Amino acid sequence: MTTKDDVIDELDERNIDYLRLQFTDILGTVKNVAIPASQAEKAFEEGIYFDGSSIEGFVRIQESDMRLVPDPETFAVLPWRDTADGAAARVICDVYDTKTGEPFAGDPRYVLKRAIDRAAEMGYTLNAGPEPEFFVFETDDDGSPTTTTHDAGGYFDLAPKDLASDIRREIIYGLEEMDFEVESSHHEVADGQHEISFKYADALTTADNIATFRTVVRAVAAMNDVHATFMPKPIPKINGSGMHTHLSLFNEDGENAFYDGDDEFDLSETARQFLAGILEHAPALTAVANPTVNSYKRLVPGYEAPVYVAWSDVNRSALVRKPAARTPAASRIELRSPDPTANPYLALAAMLQAGLDGLERGLEAPDPVRENIYDFDEAKREEYGINTLPANLGQAIDALEGDETIQRALGPHVTEKFVEAKRREMQEYRLSVSQWELDRYLPKF
Ligand code: GLN
Ligand code: MG
Ligand code: MG
Ligand code: MG
Repeated sequence: MTTKDDVIDELDERNIDYLRLQFTDILGTVKNVAIPASQAEKAFEEGIYFDGSSIEGFVRIQESDMRLVPDPETFAVLPWRDTADGAAARVICDVYDTKTGEPFAGDPRYVLKRAIDRAAEMGYTLNAGPEPEFFVFETDDDGSPTTTTHDAGGYFDLAPKDLASDIRREIIYGLEEMDFEVESSHHEVADGQHEISFKYADALTTADNIATFRTVVRAVAAMNDVHATFMPKPIPKINGSGMHTHLSLFNEDGENAFYDGDDEFDLSETARQFLAGILEHAPALTAVANPTVNSYKRLVPGYEAPVYVAWSDVNRSALVRKPAARTPAASRIELRSPDPTANPYLALAAMLQAGLDGLERGLEAPDPVRENIYDFDEAKREEYGINTLPANLGQAIDALEGDETIQRALGPHVTEKFVEAKRREMQEYRLSVSQWELDRYLPKF
């Protein structure tokens, strides 16, 4: 437990002048308000007032006063800003409505807390472990990102002098200094692509960690004059970047409620119902877990990303995989659709609420599909009763508007603002003309 007093002591001991108060807007962008260390005591006691009207999806101008209340548990010194002259630190905040004094309905962290509370009422805690992937690209002479990778030679683990492996090591050191337990890190399938997965934790910690992770990766890359990106499909026709998310429910005795040794797949009834809930709400979930136009360039057959709504214990073309687990505690399901542009709070809240809906309604999971679903034609998919994920952001938003469970998961405020922002994004995309169209049609017609 880190208390307010621990934080104040640490600010003093480590010569920290400014404390960044961090929170996340509806689109998942991390926001900061910096306060001088002298104000920290007051911030913990009373919160810090700020103008919410400038934050995407927060509030209208006439109701703009918001209050940030720091969560001392999330205090961390920023490793890349830790120098002999002093350091910078951040603390993640909850957002409150100044008028009502209640948690603000548009705060993604609160949306996740509501889902966590519901799970707790049903006797469960969600554990989640993400596997975010990203590309590292060269920057040009102006410092703008390119899509040129700097390790075109393939697995650079074999090349100790490679800049990319140095950067990855630096990222991992940074994360460890911020108390992350990095589980594995490796070069991914594509050139210039990496994965760093960290240990599972309760959903709130994991969401905070994902937000922090993205900040650390990008900051360390920038310090090395390269650009790290979580854009899901920066280069066509090769693998994109996903954020597979491993999920399990633990019960009040700290036992894994997903484990049943008597089952063929070690999956309990609870796990199967949760899984059925995820599959049932998969189209609407996709809007939240894959919230950009570009997300849908990744969800195509042939690149290890899911396209079809099915689960499997063997193949990686399914939406949900049941990974082999060495211990009962490790029994879990892996949702393979999310990508790292998702707002981690909203995505985990939606996943959890979808799964809980499966429990509450006692939904039944279909049989696993053990063949490569990419190879199925429409008739075979129909025979197996396999649906397809939304093909683009517009379809995903339609699915969200047709799914009351996922809308309830987000709450009316977030649903409204999210749908509005995403419809706008889709419309802007429709107004653009891509290079592909020019290449294809300009010479021909
Ligand atoms: N990059 C792939 C994806 O989009 C996953 C590859 C892997 O981790 N096996 O989802
Ligand atoms: Mg992995
Ligand atoms: Mg991977
Ligand atoms: Mg995986």
